[in-house]
Amino acid sequence: MVQIFHEKDSNLEILKDKTIAIIGYGNQGRAQALNLRDSGMGIIIGNREDNYKDVAINDGFSTYTIKEATKIADIIFFLIPDEIMKETFETSIKSNLKPGSALVFASGYTIGFNLIVPPENVDVILLAPRMIGVGVRENFLNNQGFFSFISVEQNYSGDALEILLALANGIGTLKKGAIQVTFKQEAELDLFNEQGFGPAFGRVLLTAIYTLIDAGYPPEAVLVELYMSNEMSYTYKKMAEIGLIKQVDFHSQTSQYGAMSRGIRFRNIPLKPIMKKVLVDIQNGSFTKEWEKPLTKIKFKAIKFFATKQKINKIENKVRKSLNLKLYDISKEEIPTEEEMSKLKEISEELKLFEQYYE
Ligand code: NDP
Repeated sequence: MVQIFHEKDSNLEILKDKTIAIIGYGNQGRAQALNLRDSGMGIIIGNREDNYKDVAINDGFSTYTIKEATKIADIIFFLIPDEIMKETFETSIKSNLKPGSALVFASGYTIGFNLIVPPENVDVILLAPRMIGVGVRENFLNNQGFFSFISVEQNYSGDALEILLALANGIGTLKKGAIQVTFKQEAELDLFNEQGFGPAFGRVLLTAIYTLIDAGYPPEAVLVELYMSNEMSYTYKKMAEIGLIKQVDFHSQTSQYGAMSRGIRFRNIPLKPIMKKVLVDIQNGSFTKEWEKPLTKIKFKAIKFFATKQKINKIENKVRKSLNLKLYDISKEEIPTEEEMSKLKEISEELKLFEQYYE
């Protein structure tokens, strides 16, 4: 049985006199720091010397280097991008952790896939909001709360779950509910959403766009119909609020009959085997192994560059111009250097496929 925790399950007292360091004052870092401070907790910030640090100072926090903040704190929130966590952990965190302190992650990725192995004499905790940083702050201020995934990987102090639940209460997630999963499950669910659901959804959307444009409908009308009006995001919101099928009642009878009667025509699209393969590659570590390779970082740069050349970018730009919407120049995407391109020679056949796919 999955365990789901709420406010009644936590006691903020356990955090009295504890110093909490937020390492990384970005999307999650700023939102969680402000929420914890508003919940009465003692917060310091550890950040590199730059704009984020200035924002923290403007918000009234004492700021330190990452090493200093780690040395001072009893609880360390590690809220920098997952890709650089391993290196920062080795250079600035690991040797500065106080025995008995708690290390808190907002993503299961680095622990779940053994990229970071913390010392045995600390608690290791997952507190991962299912919400972007701005939403973490907004839903704290409006008392709505938000869902999170939580976990204790290592319980050195013997109090790790109590500490976790008090922190979860402090950031405001227990109003809605915190669901217990493992670090690995959190990472796998997140990666699957990005790799198994996102691209399939993107393909469906693009196919619909090109079907309509090829049939002669004005691109402005097509994009507004399919996503620019925000109508779909409203439907998504209603799915979360009242249920996938129940939200259908918000649509007309014609819409409901049309969607349900035509739905059956799409039943044989072989999505499940592709999704299962994506999931297996995530679960057995193949994806992580691939992403950790230096060559993959260059391959990523090349794929991102190809993606800027997609037909849809030109169509969207033209549509945004005629609808008086702000334009974003994505053609500035970094182009791989000649040296990088020569390193990519060994995967040139694979890259060709990406180039063709994004043409
Ligand atoms: P951001 O990209 O917003 O984090 C930026 C922070 O990391 C800044 O403080 C930045 O400081 C610092 N940083 C960047 N590079 C370095 C570096 N090389 N060395 C030291 N500090 C660095 O991250 P998020 O808030 O998006 O993500 C933080 C964690 O939260 C991740 O584990 C992520 O998976 C998780 N998460 C994120 C969600 C989201 O909506 N974004 C949702 C749920 C979980 P600087 O000024 O030095 O660049």
